[in-house]
Amino acid sequence: MSEHGAWREVADGVLVRRYAELEQALGLVIGTRRCLVIDTGRDEVHGAEFASAVREVTTVPWSVVLTHAHFDHAFGTAAFTPCPVWAHARCGTALTGTAEAQRAEWTRHYRHEAKHAFAEALQRARLELPTDTFTRGATLDLGDRQVRLLHPGRGHTDHDVVIHVPDSGVVFAGDLVEQSAPPSVGEDSHPADWPAAVDAVLALRPRIVVPGHGDPVGPGFVAAQRAMLAGESRDT
Ligand SMILES: [Zn+2]
Repeated sequence: MSEHGAWREVADGVLVRRYAELEQALGLVIGTRRCLVIDTGRDEVHGAEFASAVREVTTVPWSVVLTHAHFDHAFGTAAFTPCPVWAHARCGTALTGTAEAQRAEWTRHYRHEAKHAFAEALQRARLELPTDTFTRGATLDLGDRQVRLLHPGRGHTDHDVVIHVPDSGVVFAGDLVEQSAPPSVGEDSHPADWPAAVDAVLALRPRIVVPGHGDPVGPGFVAAQRAMLAGESRDT
């Protein structure tokens, strides 16, 4: 089983690569001197497909940013290294602390679904840790444009990162926002804090928000999802 993604350009030099598996959305922001790869996929096979697709659209050197430590966002990093790998300061600890449990859980899942190639690739995936970390935010210079990395507070995890591309009004929200399904609330999520993190995304006044799973959405969709999250956190 192999899988190819499909590009969608949401703004000038701002692209999303969509995959059928998990309805995933990986990102790319292209500048004149560097590009920024947003999340790296489930494993090195998936990461390598994404990396070669990036190379088809730009030849400038890449940096990586991980929105959080879940396997589908972070286990493809070895296909991109050596390069700067940006993340929140808690992401590395989350990766080293949970990688083997995530690997075991999702390998079982893919075997159960008879997606054996995905299971094997996940088993083999080499863990790469962040090289450049921050707690509140960081600004990356891509040449003709700057991109801002921000931690909007706890939500889907305690180390979520959103990526703001101010010149195009695009925000990559990681799994703080999902379009293809309701947001995924896990044991490592912080439901009571999550609405405030989404407020921080909306405060950037984005025109387009790219979720971790599903298609790009507008601020109205994000506001509705925030209300749903706020309701849920009152009930639990
Ligand atoms: Zn996640």
